Amino acid sequence: MEDVIIIGAGAVGAFIARSLSVYELKVLVLDKENDVGDVTSMANSAIAHSGYDPEPGTKKAIFNVAGNKMMPTVCRELDVPYGKIGTMTIALEDSQLKTLEDLKLRAEKNGVEARLMSHDEVIKAEPNINPEVKGALLCPTGGIVNPFLLVARAFENAMDNGVKLALNEEVTGIESKKDGFVVKTKDNEYEAKVVINAAGLHSDDVAKMIEPISWSINPRKGEYYVLDHYAPGLVNHVLFPLPSSKGKGVLVTTTTSGDYLVGPSSEFVPSKDDVSTDVMTLEDVKAQAKSLVPNIPFNQQIRVYAGLRATPSTHDFIIEPAKSNSKFINVAGIESPGLVSSPAIGEYVADKLVGAVLPLKKKAHYETKVRPYVKPLTMPLEERNALIKEHPDYGMMVCQCEKVSLGEIKDVMSRSLPVYSVKALKKRTRAGFGKCQGGFCQPSIVRLLAEYYHTTPDKVNYDKLNSPLVVEEVKKEGK
Ligand SMILES: Cc1cc2nc3c(=O)[nH]c(=O)nc-3n(C[C@H](O)[C@H](O)[C@H](O)COP(=O)(O)OP(=O)(O)OC[C@H]3O[C@@H](n4cnc5c(N)ncnc54)[C@H](O)[C@@H]3O)c2cc1C
Repeated sequence: MEDVIIIGAGAVGAFIARSLSVYELKVLVLDKENDVGDVTSMANSAIAHSGYDPEPGTKKAIFNVAGNKMMPTVCRELDVPYGKIGTMTIALEDSQLKTLEDLKLRAEKNGVEARLMSHDEVIKAEPNINPEVKGALLCPTGGIVNPFLLVARAFENAMDNGVKLALNEEVTGIESKKDGFVVKTKDNEYEAKVVINAAGLHSDDVAKMIEPISWSINPRKGEYYVLDHYAPGLVNHVLFPLPSSKGKGVLVTTTTSGDYLVGPSSEFVPSKDDVSTDVMTLEDVKAQAKSLVPNIPFNQQIRVYAGLRATPSTHDFIIEPAKSNSKFINVAGIESPGLVSSPAIGEYVADKLVGAVLPLKKKAHYETKVRPYVKPLTMPLEERNALIKEHPDYGMMVCQCEKVSLGEIKDVMSRSLPVYSVKALKKRTRAGFGKCQGGFCQPSIVRLLAEYYHTTPDKVNYDKLNSPLVVEEVKKEGK
């Protein structure tokens, strides 16, 4: 029997697992997908929000501010790209300046550093901004983070400490017993003393497996453009318009890899799985973004995507035990700012909620850091040459657009977190993220994955199970 089963391997499940991994507990994470962080945690704005925006006193405000404070240390320990570049909320009309003052007061109530900027200061800091700008609210502790690596590295660290992960295991039912739970998937049954529901968009469906609930999760779609890292300096901060009832609005930002993100839209949709994009919505996103930064070079667009926010009917994060059973813990409705909040949520759920129902004893030895990663691209030339001389794989470029070497790919495949798909490898290394979107490197990636897992290329999936890129061998026996 496990001590704890976590349902859901997104950012929230990852950081709960990491926080629990320091204790003498048997922890298993189940996810329905073929990789960790394959749903909302990979399709968002990737902003480490400062916490100026959520209503003071709410769980969103508390965990956002706490998570933001943890982010520099977490990213250092897990070797995750992170940049404290600051956020600016922009007023384009005089009438909006009063809202900026209100937001500053709200930031202060939340304990977040914030400063009003004049027209001239904004123009100096952001030369490409709409010249009509009237002022801005600067929050210097806001920043950007790599969302793919944040989740993957938290899992790697948790797994180095003994946490187990079972992918492609969709939970279909849960039975309460005297001393715990039986968690059922299509093919298996698992037993645990405590169950944590971190199932994102489906957290209401999972919560209902235990008891009737009074809340629901309503998917709210956000669509984006990704622009190639063609030239630095289009924007230097994360630029937001004024927030509205629809959320924080269409932002323009750089990312930790130097690309630019423009979006998201905000529309409730009926399906929890529909991540399609559409021209009308994207055109609207484009128009809104251009009102902030008129000269965004949309001809450098390399991709569009959509993510679904798990918007709760309660309007706040739901982080509490089920009404009828304190050993079933719901961590639900974690919409934005859930990514930045996840380290703080993980710590709270492990120490306070699991700690209330299981004895927590720290392991004699556990890792807080992942094994160091070799990064040839950021090394001084001399050091890189020496590395390549000793390990020639670091000089073999597999992905030309993003400059990802064979050595880095082999390193990622050898880690405790498995890499079962082309997309998983893409998220871990950036191979396939660039201008050609994998056109050049995908055949090599498929071959490398097939070799590593001792299988044939037609068994290598792009993403989910049964999504091969190679269907059959054309040239058989040399013909
Ligand atoms: C458009 C958009 C913009 C955002 N921008 C930001 C931002 O800039 N900053 C920020 O902090 N936050 C942002 N967020 C929010 C952030 O992405 C989420 O709060 C966070 O990713 C939620 O993580 P999660 O683990 O709860 O959910 P998920 O990542 O969705 O993980 C839930 C997991 O549960 C699994 N699962 C579901 N049902 C089952 C089942 N029955 N059995 C097994 N597994 C199951 C899923 O497969 C999934 O892997 C944004 C979100 C969106 C959509």
